[in-house]
Amino acid sequence: MSDTVPTRPSRIQLTLDLDAPGRNVGDLMLRWSDNTVPLGYHPIPVISLRGQPGPCVVILGGTHGDEFEGPTAILRLAARLEPSALAGQVILVPALNAPALHASARVSPLDGQNLNRAFPGDADGGPTAMLAHFVETRLLPRADAVIDLHSGGKASVFDPCALATRVEDADLATANMDLARAFGLPLIWVLGGHNDNRSVNAAAARVKVPMIAAELGGGGGVDPEITDLAETGLMRCLRHLGVLPGGAPAPVPARHVEIADPLHSVYAPADGLFDRRCSAGQHAEAGRCAGTLYFPEEPERAPIELGFPATGHILAHGNRGLVRRGDLLALVAQSLPEER
Ligand SMILES: [Zn+2]
Repeated sequence: MSDTVPTRPSRIQLTLDLDAPGRNVGDLMLRWSDNTVPLGYHPIPVISLRGQPGPCVVILGGTHGDEFEGPTAILRLAARLEPSALAGQVILVPALNAPALHASARVSPLDGQNLNRAFPGDADGGPTAMLAHFVETRLLPRADAVIDLHSGGKASVFDPCALATRVEDADLATANMDLARAFGLPLIWVLGGHNDNRSVNAAAARVKVPMIAAELGGGGGVDPEITDLAETGLMRCLRHLGVLPGGAPAPVPARHVEIADPLHSVYAPADGLFDRRCSAGQHAEAGRCAGTLYFPEEPERAPIELGFPATGHILAHGNRGLVRRGDLLALVAQSLPEER
């Protein structure tokens, strides 16, 4: 994977002018001729709120289409923010992977691809690659900060946290961590060597724009408390960046964790019914029971008790009863000393 940003022109057009003042609502026009939209485009709604001169903040949700807390919080912001109150611009994309959101699916129904594994994308590729390419070459370069809201989707449930990428550029690393702190959740997941370089986070690092993601619960629904946390986090970030008045938000003590080793997590060793005995946010103790795998189609087969391979913090638990061999059942992270 090249680290250079692709330069071929995007095929995606906008129906709105992102440089126009005030409130402007329109679409990214994702032209992908298929049976559902043979000659038109797949709309990806965008809300631009542009006030006085100041930083441009891009806020993304629905990168995965079965994660609804972020899109909900973004639409709350679209309803409550007035451009005249902003020192800068907020570009809201509540459903970046709109076709996936409409299908309530993690990946795009247009090509089966995962948008957060599609960067830097391809101007001439399939619809997911075209979208990733547009974000990396057109949207991120105009941003002074980017926030991408995720959750566990239908498959899993996360302990709510902000994610900051550890990058070599010291100023960018500090800006990422400051933005993660500003979001105000008591847990920060630091993305290091195990981060996928095909994600929005990796794209932002290439473009050198400060960026955080957030993991906001999950399960395929909309938890009101978690949506409140997301909305509060976004408003805090806008204050931190100076787009909203009020000064820097009050600091919130946060625990910092990282995935030290993917093998510290618990995976299903076979297809079966997982009787989960742990939850996101809890402490994992090496050797302690994470749950029991039963075999409903083979009742004579002995169940398998699954222990934690390592001590740590349970960042997420699987949300499925019936699991496949290889499914993630519990994501275990290790604490870090607080970074500066
Ligand atoms: Zn996601």
